[in-house]
Amino acid sequence: MARREFTKATRRAALERSQGRCEAIGAWYGLEPGKRCNAPLSAGVEFDHIDLDANSKDNSLSNCAATCIPCHRHKSAKHDTPKAAKTLRQQDKARGVSKPAGNLKSRPSFPKPSKPERQGKQPLPPRKLFEAIS
Ligand SMILES: [Zn+2]
Repeated sequence: MARREFTKATRRAALERSQGRCEAIGAWYGLEPGKRCNAPLSAGVEFDHIDLDANSKDNSLSNCAATCIPCHRHKSAKHDTPKAAKTLRQQDKARGVSKPAGNLKSRPSFPKPSKPERQGKQPLPPRKLFEAIS
């Protein structure tokens, strides 16, 4: 299958849209689901077909992502076949489970106020005030 490429105009437009930051998003590029890479593109930019072009043949701007080289390489290496895509979706799912969002680890932990709590003891039996000593 011949791989069609984006026109110069599309590449230029994608680069402008990216504002110089990698537009790769999500597991296709080895990122967390929904997360954008945002790496500066000053080190090198490549233009990736967001939808695999073998299927979509879509060279429009909406299918063009200006990505950093590691992102593009990751996707090219991992997603040449539908089978690989399925594998990644599964990884994606596993990652979503294993990495909970909203980690407050850095927040200083205050000691909990110690509540005066009754001990879990049974109440003592009533004492005789004057017990005979044998
Ligand atoms: Zn990237």
